[in-house]
Amino acid sequence: MIYFVGAGPGAADLITVRGKALLERCDQLIYAGSLVNPALLGFAKQGCEVLNSASMTLEEVTSRFVYGEERGWLTVRLHTGDPSLYGAIREQIDFLAPRSLPFEVVPGVSSFCGAAAALNAEYTLPGVSQTLIISRAGGRTDVPPGQNLAALAAHGASMAVFLSAALTDEVRRELLDAGLPPETPAALVYKATWPDQKIVRGTVGGLTDMRKELGEDKTALILVGGFLAGGPDSYQRSKLYDPSFSHGFRNNG
Ligand code: SAH
Repeated sequence: MIYFVGAGPGAADLITVRGKALLERCDQLIYAGSLVNPALLGFAKQGCEVLNSASMTLEEVTSRFVYGEERGWLTVRLHTGDPSLYGAIREQIDFLAPRSLPFEVVPGVSSFCGAAAALNAEYTLPGVSQTLIISRAGGRTDVPPGQNLAALAAHGASMAVFLSAALTDEVRRELLDAGLPPETPAALVYKATWPDQKIVRGTVGGLTDMRKELGEDKTALILVGGFLAGGPDSYQRSKLYDPSFSHGFRNNG
């Protein structure tokens, strides 16, 4: 059996209970070495074969799946954050499914959740944004037409931009081209939830300088939107917890 497991954003104790139990049981562990916290490898049992996929091709990974299945092993394929975001699991699943090799996906805490926690932020503030856009700048992987950052930014929604810290200047330009005011709040979060987490807050107009201040261009998220503004006057309070608002679970008067 092959389990695609979300490792969580970094801190080793942010993997799910289910993910950790599988790590403890597996005979073979193939982990995304560039981003997964090595501390997680310590959960694997003695004798578990541990492979870093950073230096492997898709074909090498899938041949290890077959190798494990031939031996009746439990394989864990460990992806950073949640596997459904930029995890490249679909191409692995499309290898396994037609061959009837059994697999299951175990979700994880994505880095956009880890970054929000690090900032004490809520992406969906009433009166500010009820939408979170998860995207990336076009790099070596193309972004389909209509989904460039400028087009997305036109919505004025909260944004979490992955895989783009090295392209921060380009992100800044696209957001400003979209008409976002330069004073729109922004934050760079490097290695959210890791011991060496770093946060730089600022504005869209200041993104280039913020990137210099951060001094890192990998493993960082660019967050953008009014949800990052401080102060209780920058949003409306929720209806859910408003005393004058009745709902299915609470009646007034
Ligand atoms: N599946 C992962 C994303 C993998 S793509 C997830 O759900 O988080 C890799 C990108 O994710 C990095 O370039 C960076 O933008 C972001 N990332 C991953 N871990 C991060 C962390 N701890 N802090 C900030 N950004 C992170």
